[in-house]
Amino acid sequence: MAQGELKSSVLNRKRNPKSPVASRSSKKQKIAEHRKSLPIASEEERLIEAVQKNDILIIVGETGSGKTTQLPQFLFNAGFCREGKMVGITQPRRIAALTIAKRVAEECDVPLGQKVGYSVRFDDTTSSSTRLKYMTDGFLLREALVDRLLSRYSVIIIDEAHERTVHTDVLLALLKKVQRERSEIGGVLRGCQGRKVSPLKLIIMSASLDARVFCDYYGGAKDFRVEGRQFDVDMFYTVHPETDYVDAALNTIFQIHSEEEEGDILVFLTGQEEIESVERLVQEKLQHLPEDERKLLPLAIFSALPSEQQMRVFAPAPIGFRKVVLATNIAETSITIPGIRYVVDSGVVKARTYDPNKGMETLDVVPVSKAQAIQRSGRAGRDGYGKSFHLYPERDFWKLEDSTKPEIKRCNLSNVILQLKALGIDDILGFDFIDKPSRSAIVKALAELHLLGALTDDCKLAKPAGEQMARLPLEPVYSRALILANQFNCLEEMLIIVAMLSVESIFYDPRQKREESCFLFIFGQARTSRNHFVSVEGDHLTYLSVYRELDEFLEERKAEKSEAKVEKIMRKWCKVNFVNSRSLKHARDIYRQIRGNVEQMGFNVSSCGNDMLEYRRCIAASFFLKAAQRQMDGTYRALESGEIVHIHPSSVLFRSKPECVIFDELMQTSQKYINNLTRIDPLWLAELAPHHYKTEE
Ligand code: ADP
Ligand code: MG
Repeated sequence: MAQGELKSSVLNRKRNPKSPVASRSSKKQKIAEHRKSLPIASEEERLIEAVQKNDILIIVGETGSGKTTQLPQFLFNAGFCREGKMVGITQPRRIAALTIAKRVAEECDVPLGQKVGYSVRFDDTTSSSTRLKYMTDGFLLREALVDRLLSRYSVIIIDEAHERTVHTDVLLALLKKVQRERSEIGGVLRGCQGRKVSPLKLIIMSASLDARVFCDYYGGAKDFRVEGRQFDVDMFYTVHPETDYVDAALNTIFQIHSEEEEGDILVFLTGQEEIESVERLVQEKLQHLPEDERKLLPLAIFSALPSEQQMRVFAPAPIGFRKVVLATNIAETSITIPGIRYVVDSGVVKARTYDPNKGMETLDVVPVSKAQAIQRSGRAGRDGYGKSFHLYPERDFWKLEDSTKPEIKRCNLSNVILQLKALGIDDILGFDFIDKPSRSAIVKALAELHLLGALTDDCKLAKPAGEQMARLPLEPVYSRALILANQFNCLEEMLIIVAMLSVESIFYDPRQKREESCFLFIFGQARTSRNHFVSVEGDHLTYLSVYRELDEFLEERKAEKSEAKVEKIMRKWCKVNFVNSRSLKHARDIYRQIRGNVEQMGFNVSSCGNDMLEYRRCIAASFFLKAAQRQMDGTYRALESGEIVHIHPSSVLFRSKPECVIFDELMQTSQKYINNLTRIDPLWLAELAPHHYKTEE
């Protein structure tokens, strides 16, 4: 069977030495060969015919078969982008949109941002000549606020639909409506900027085998299967449950490296902080190995990674080296990394869960589903026979849920409901969701939006506050904070804080989450060096001083202008101060974007300078739903939910334990922690949010 031949060709594979000046034509040829070898290549004609014949098409195919990179190019060649029309492809994750757009631009041999581009929150590379536009599902939803009929698109592809993110689910329903409206008014001059509106083709793509749910939802839509190529994968499990999956992952990586044949390793972890910590631990461990055993190259891939570093995981490792890719669940289906033969599955994933009764959202580390575990193993069998190491016993695998619950059933709905309201959809309870969220979750979100001033008493969009909040690419509570800060004259400071809260781990605290008890001891050094940033008022103001200090530092060195130089200076400054330079760079980009957004809305960005009292009052007024009060026993009670919580050891208020705080984050690890805090006066709550807190008589 053909599988055997392919298997041996892969096993005999030799890494090509990296030629310093790879000729452009040989690269082009390689890409052409790669494209031709993909399972989808032989389906081009049949696929185009199916799109032409069906207004809605469900495409199901094995990960790596070429759906995301190839289908849009087929559509372009078949004329779907004539007269300035675009093919839009949505992804649940920004990093997939970025890396795939870059790859497709390379395949088309065009600069990114011309024919092929991507648009994600805080980063848009498209231009008027873009025809194939990769974007996040959230971005397309936001675009619908400006152009209700999405009139520039001839085809919209909802990719990775099986992920069932809340934005995907809303888009599935919204596009059904847009498609109907566009076919009703076909040919009439309407839409954004009077553009001619033609019927819309809708393609839903999914890696999972269960396409029925989508076919049924679209009234018996046609499904199209793309056969993939999958080699056998041997599965290994631990004998006993592991107490620490990070340590277990680390040991497994080194065991594979020393005992197994050549081939790269893909490790599934939960998030940026954990990945960065494992990356450092691998580096450290390598230092203690003999020279010839050090040829292991750790590479991280997660959403907030700066774009220039993202593409490194796709390049082959230098000759003789083995790559170990440390990834979040991004590498399960969204992106396919060539060369992987070994998978290490931590068995866990970071997931958002929301309890509408308590109004509490937590980002927890939870077990994966069976479907996810199987998909993870499959990544080892893309290029040939592979091995997959699961860091839990086989009996635990059988206890896993079959599949993940759609996000819409387990998240705070206030953001999407605000967007639906801004799209003119008022009947949220009657909206045609593929899976209806619970009534109580909808009611809770409506109540929250009302409290935040985004909705009127009769649940209509409030003007202008609700409209402004819907236009900002932020959670409603942050949008509201910016609107309030404008009134408190501290918009500059709030923009900085919102940007800093949008990124993970500003400070460089390896293993912090795992070793809370000995955290202070181990990282005493890091802590001392960051002491001069620390504000007794809390983390928000500490972040503000980090941001401002770097700004001043760069301002003083303004003469050295080149961007690369500024970056280098910044990285050095971050290193000295134990600040995570990736995170800070990301926060600075976000700041620039949202500052642009509020300026466009006509806000004048003013600063309160050093008047931190006014600023803290503004924080209390903005985040009054996230207040916690100290109790007699030193624990805290979250005032909205009544939950008993603890201050996280990484907060600068961990020791001082003020009477009342505003928190940004609530997470559950060994216990419930609140983090990113500001000390407030409890009396401010009744004064600044009288509609929610009463003064005690
Ligand atoms: P699917 O959407 O069906 O999962 P893709 O279109 O994403 O498949 O990927 C097709 C092939 O392109 C895969 O074999 C993958 O290895 C390769 N590929 C995708 N992105 C890149 C990249 N940035 N660099 C190199 N190869 C890539
Ligand atoms: Mg894909």
